[in-house]
Amino acid sequence: MFHHVKELQFNARVSKPDIRFAKLLLEQFGGPNGELKAAMQYFVQAFGCRKAYPDKYDMLMDIATEEFSHLEIVGATIQMLLTGVNGELKNAADESDLNKMLDGKAAKENYIHEAMINPHFFIVSGGTPTLTDSVGNPWSASYIMGMGDLTADLRLNIGAETSAKMVYENLMKFTDDVYVKETLRYLMTREVAHFQMFQAALDTIQPNFPPGILQSDPRFSNKYFNMSKGEDFKGPWNDGKSPELQEEWQVIDDPLEHVRETNGLLKEKVAGTERTDKSVQKENKALSAERKSQVDQATLPENGIMSWSVYEDQQLTNGKK
Ligand code: MN
Ligand code: MN
Repeated sequence: MFHHVKELQFNARVSKPDIRFAKLLLEQFGGPNGELKAAMQYFVQAFGCRKAYPDKYDMLMDIATEEFSHLEIVGATIQMLLTGVNGELKNAADESDLNKMLDGKAAKENYIHEAMINPHFFIVSGGTPTLTDSVGNPWSASYIMGMGDLTADLRLNIGAETSAKMVYENLMKFTDDVYVKETLRYLMTREVAHFQMFQAALDTIQPNFPPGILQSDPRFSNKYFNMSKGEDFKGPWNDGKSPELQEEWQVIDDPLEHVRETNGLLKEKVAGTERTDKSVQKENKALSAERKSQVDQATLPENGIMSWSVYEDQQLTNGKK
């Protein structure tokens, strides 16, 4: 269940209204790398591991709920930045609080002018945040990534935290408000924390590479196709051992000739690795059975009744019945 508490997680403050920045900040409210995306992604992923991986479920729900708290902080900040849009702006009174905050009539007119950059704030939302990105695209569930496999989902989440961190870093360049900057720095830093939580959780699942179960074709896992001719470079991506599977990289310098010689790679040989088609098939079977039994053990009901949660009363009487 969700339980709302009215204090924000972080004491978000704003020194003066700024419609221009409110519009930019919408990117983290309803944008593809924003807080709602993060919250919904981790929330949706959590269902699949509730029984089999209760520790990861706990972490995903903690972080999903924290992301909702960030969404609230971003919304509150946008609301503060929009101070006056729905009230004093429509009121010509010179002694309005907004006039005092904005230092005179010229500043107020400039503010109205800026407000027109996003007329949504004026004529649709009436001065509240809209669930869109900074150019008005509506939030979309297509931003959500989840594959139902933790070795895949946790990596997707590391990517999500990376892009969220970068958007905050970029947003910080576009405001001089020290209070807004303080909040953005906090939100950016939490993404850095989450990145590491997902990485640490991924490391506890072994083996976790390749993502998922199927171990992949050893003929192609260590081949580097030199597909871009000209100045060629060597690096750990094509020289020495591959970082995860520890196979020797095999550079195919003339991909066209190679493709023709191998009948379109159908006659490709395994090279530079101890993996064979046989060993891979064996690993596929073993890992598949292991993951299946983990899920089955956790999800098949003993008495035919499925129950998502255990309540206190049940815990007390379970032994006696
Ligand atoms: Mn966040
Ligand atoms: Mn995050």
